[in-house]
Amino acid sequence: MENTETSMNEKLNMDNLNMMLDSIMNASFVPCFIFDKSSFEILYQNNRAYDLVGNKLGRNCHEVFCTRETPCMDCPMVFLGKMPIVSSRRTDIFEKPVKVQYANIKWFDGRDVVLCKIMGTADDSEQVMDEMAASSQLFMETEKKGMDSLTGIQDYMKFYSSVEQKILDDVHNDYAVVVFDVDRFKSINDLYGMIDGDKALKYIAECMQAVFGYENNYARLHSDRFAFFVKYNSKGDIIKVIEKLRKKIYNNPFDFDINTSYGIYLVNDRSVPVNLMCDRAMMASRTAKGNVMKFCAFYDEQYREDMIKANEIEHDMNKALENGEFKMYLQPKYKLEDYELCGAEVLCRWLHPAKGIISPNDFIPLFERNGFILKLDEYMWEEACKTIRRWLDEGRNPVPLSVNISRYHIGHNDIFKTLTELMNKYQLTPNYLNLEITESLFLDQPEMLNRELVKLQSIGFNLEVDDFGSGFSSLNLIRNISVDTIKIDKEFLDSEIASEKGKIVVNHTIDMAKDLNLQVVAEGVETKEHVDFLKNSHCDIAQGFYFAKPMPIEEFDKFQF
Ligand code: C2E
Ligand code: CA
Ligand code: CA
Repeated sequence: MENTETSMNEKLNMDNLNMMLDSIMNASFVPCFIFDKSSFEILYQNNRAYDLVGNKLGRNCHEVFCTRETPCMDCPMVFLGKMPIVSSRRTDIFEKPVKVQYANIKWFDGRDVVLCKIMGTADDSEQVMDEMAASSQLFMETEKKGMDSLTGIQDYMKFYSSVEQKILDDVHNDYAVVVFDVDRFKSINDLYGMIDGDKALKYIAECMQAVFGYENNYARLHSDRFAFFVKYNSKGDIIKVIEKLRKKIYNNPFDFDINTSYGIYLVNDRSVPVNLMCDRAMMASRTAKGNVMKFCAFYDEQYREDMIKANEIEHDMNKALENGEFKMYLQPKYKLEDYELCGAEVLCRWLHPAKGIISPNDFIPLFERNGFILKLDEYMWEEACKTIRRWLDEGRNPVPLSVNISRYHIGHNDIFKTLTELMNKYQLTPNYLNLEITESLFLDQPEMLNRELVKLQSIGFNLEVDDFGSGFSSLNLIRNISVDTIKIDKEFLDSEIASEKGKIVVNHTIDMAKDLNLQVVAEGVETKEHVDFLKNSHCDIAQGFYFAKPMPIEEFDKFQF
């Protein structure tokens, strides 16, 4: 209990620090990034930087700016001393060289990081500097009045204080805070230019003025994010206002569409800080995004509960690994020709002491976000190797085990080293371990991945493309990348073999894979109909509930021997 409280407090402190960092960095007119000095990872970007390159958090500097896989030889960050420097840099993403200011600073956790500000193109830097000086003058003047310098409506500071004032003064009425932004605003900037992007933002401000008149209840928070607050009797009141505003914004004079998505926070607890209300409303609006049927969503406590759940999992995960709560389950694979057992996939289960068995879908995505997947996967790989070693020591002739390799490993881990070390430690040859790599991974970083894969293959690992058919360029992929096996995704199987045309697609996919000397595995095989179809199509191997569910090792032992 005490631990949970401490970690909640730590999280709150962290949130405050992050908020402070945000407000300092967003006060700058130029794009700012913070890089880890040793790994070159992007740890932070301000809104300007976001507008410029999109969200690149977690990626490396050289990868984003120079499309390189290794750090630049002449990287100024390496030579940076106590004093800040300004350096002219040529990078792949800007047409002209740019002036960049670098300064050493300390990150929250004490490590050395570098603050980089992109000051403008090198050849027109003086002009850029003048413009910046002029705009920061304007910024300072308007800031004083609490107005947003681009649109002339209230800025976030003024907005926060007016909401606070209103809800404390008028406790007899109910209020809602609504936050919205423009769908794919970055594409508008990219395709039509920043000037048109700015015009769109000004236009939105005008629409808000037209809808709300002299009520000072609306603001631009930052970049393409706007907010307003309204008094309401029923939820319908709020939706009516949103519909009116949304329609007005949609009927714009530009060549492009401006679609907006709204999140609504009902102010039940007036002591919640307004910035948090806005964050919560924004969180809700994300669930409406990309859904044509839905343009607004209410914040509900479920989000908070999900977040708390995720926090709990993060809190428990290290201990769980030490306590051996992550268990290896094995799902058999069979040859369709004679139904002989020919392998098994290693799948993880979390046997939580209080919560029971937790399915990987509830923790793998979170671990892929927080990086813990590196530890968990290595643990599972080791469990697999240990098991094979035991089988060999018992004088058995075991089938190979297939382990999953999460996308997070590429660029974060030396898979080759880890796997070869495991082979040495357990005195195994790579033919006992097959590597399953998801198809979407191949689309992300093809060159880096291919280089790693070729190395692994050259020493005898069998490479399987997992979830084949779930992405877009499957066919191109197996032409360009060296793999041994494709594993047809269960969704692909289900959706395609339901129709005659679909059956032809799967048949040809299998034929083509076989022409390329690839082995074909089908997963998610649930019915006799699946088996018959796959046998007719000359698919080699099947895995699925029709044959067996994933099972603990003790059970699998009985199965195999
Ligand atoms: P996956 O790699 O595609 O694994 C196959 C999933 O399909 C497994 O789900 C398996 O239980 C399920 N399955 C097998 N046969 C059938 C069937 O006939 N019908 C249906 N509906 N499902 C079937 P599971 O074990 O819940 O794992 C889900 C995903 O979590 C896996 O998908 C994999 O991407 C990931 N995962 C599991 N363990 C690990 C791990 O140790 N490391 C990593 N990186 N990912 C893991
Ligand atoms: Ca898999
Ligand atoms: Ca799969």
